[in-house]
Amino acid sequence: MTPELEEKLKSCPNLPSPPTIAIKIIELANDPDSDFKQIIQLLNCDPALASKILRIANSPLYPYVKKVEHLHQAMMVIGLNATISLALSFSLVNSLQTTKGTGLDYTLYWKRALMAGTACQVLGNTCNVPEMEELYLAGLLQDLGMLALDQVFPDLYVAHAGQQSDHASLVSLEQQFLGLTHGAVGSWLLAQWNLPDRLRLAVAGSDDPSRIPPQDERARFAYCVTLSGMIAEIFLRETNDEYLQMVNHRASSLLQLTPVRLMYALETIKERLPDTERIFEIDLQTWDDPQAIVESARESLLVRNLQALKEVEELKMDTVNMEEQVHNLEETHRHDPLTGTLTRAYLDKYLKTSFEQAIADEDCLTLIFGDLDKFKSVNDTYGHQAGDVVLQSAAHLLLLKLRGTDRVGRYGGEEFVLILPKAPQEAAEIVCERILTAFRNTTHEIAENQNLTVTISLGIATHTPENPYSHIADLLHHADEAVYYSKSNGGNQFTHYHSMKTVQPA
Ligand code: GH3
Ligand code: MG
Ligand code: MG
Repeated sequence: MTPELEEKLKSCPNLPSPPTIAIKIIELANDPDSDFKQIIQLLNCDPALASKILRIANSPLYPYVKKVEHLHQAMMVIGLNATISLALSFSLVNSLQTTKGTGLDYTLYWKRALMAGTACQVLGNTCNVPEMEELYLAGLLQDLGMLALDQVFPDLYVAHAGQQSDHASLVSLEQQFLGLTHGAVGSWLLAQWNLPDRLRLAVAGSDDPSRIPPQDERARFAYCVTLSGMIAEIFLRETNDEYLQMVNHRASSLLQLTPVRLMYALETIKERLPDTERIFEIDLQTWDDPQAIVESARESLLVRNLQALKEVEELKMDTVNMEEQVHNLEETHRHDPLTGTLTRAYLDKYLKTSFEQAIADEDCLTLIFGDLDKFKSVNDTYGHQAGDVVLQSAAHLLLLKLRGTDRVGRYGGEEFVLILPKAPQEAAEIVCERILTAFRNTTHEIAENQNLTVTISLGIATHTPENPYSHIADLLHHADEAVYYSKSNGGNQFTHYHSMKTVQPA
């Protein structure tokens, strides 16, 4: 960035800028001591933003049994950093849309931005780059510099009016007239806004990934951003075999994506498109037929591509091997590494199949929701590591007290769900009594000669042929309400949902 251009940008009155809420979110994101409560308070000041976060927490992107009804739950489902990235995406899109200049095709700009955000997220998933929401933000903001340049140089893009779907030609235009490209300008803007380093690097390299060495730990994140812009363009320009092959080549060199996996990513992106539009509430006018675009990409990438044909052949030969790998992978994803109980994702599946089985057998199914009492104070007093030891030991205790056919899953931090097939209410209550006693009588060794005891609160809900549930989510919800009831009466006790209002706990 030259000092002259920087001066020009700084003195431009209409330079895109983040809204107040985004500035505050960024402040929180940069504060290592910020926590859930502060971000929830902030989001509650902007009901439109809060409702978007809730909507996304309830979208298929975050498969969750219960309906997410308030922000606290949403943040548990999505996570703190992810919520921050999403909130920034929403608030920035909202406010940046009001920036309008004379040279850019703004409809096209926003179509590309949203498409690239989605593409970036899907690529992250395909290539195991875990920061899905931050990738979304980076994909979305990669061309931010163009919004600024259109303000500072109103004539810059006019020459290319009507042909702006060819992004590379805009980049060379910028290079020719300014000696730099919008990636550098966007990255400079993000620095002014105090956005994190990785985001700035990805935006700076979005038009020329060769600037980011592959050994940089942020490289794969940044390459997803570069490729997302190229993929967005597949959906925005006329189908062009040469362009598709170029993307294919880049996908392979930057992220080692094979044509088959690239094609899979394209299909996923197309499927997510309606959700993206709905969540951002942006009217982008009509798209060219995305289905037709995907089909012609398939033709170009797979059918007429020798490398892909070979790959498909190899895949067929390798099916058995692959099935085995998938099985192993599933196994490792099935258990939570800290506690050894079922992971949240697998617990959800297991709940569903157990419920279907109970219906088919016309049998009972009991769920017990368990929540450790005052667990936060264990962390606060003895440290997080000690907290981990107690969690591990508590999970072990739960597993010990159940039958072989019962299952325990980790629902969230210090919350567990116990699945007891064929167990009626009375049996469940006996199990709960056993668990409560075991917790009261167990000391957990957190360090040499340092032991402590924790108690647990339990909530039971039972599906029986006489009192059937229609949805497993309702059964779980009732178990959750029952545990809440146990808590509100002092904890260290169990409550059955059906007795909740009538029986006062001891
Ligand atoms: P209550 O009796 O009302 O349940 O209070 P609580 O403190 O147990 O519940 P709260 O939901 O306020 O806090 C749960 C705590 O669990 C907060 C969080 O720090 C801790 N936690 C969640 N997951 C983990 C984990 O994996 N390891 C450790 N050490 N702590 C965790
Ligand atoms: Mg809890
Ligand atoms: Mg608790």
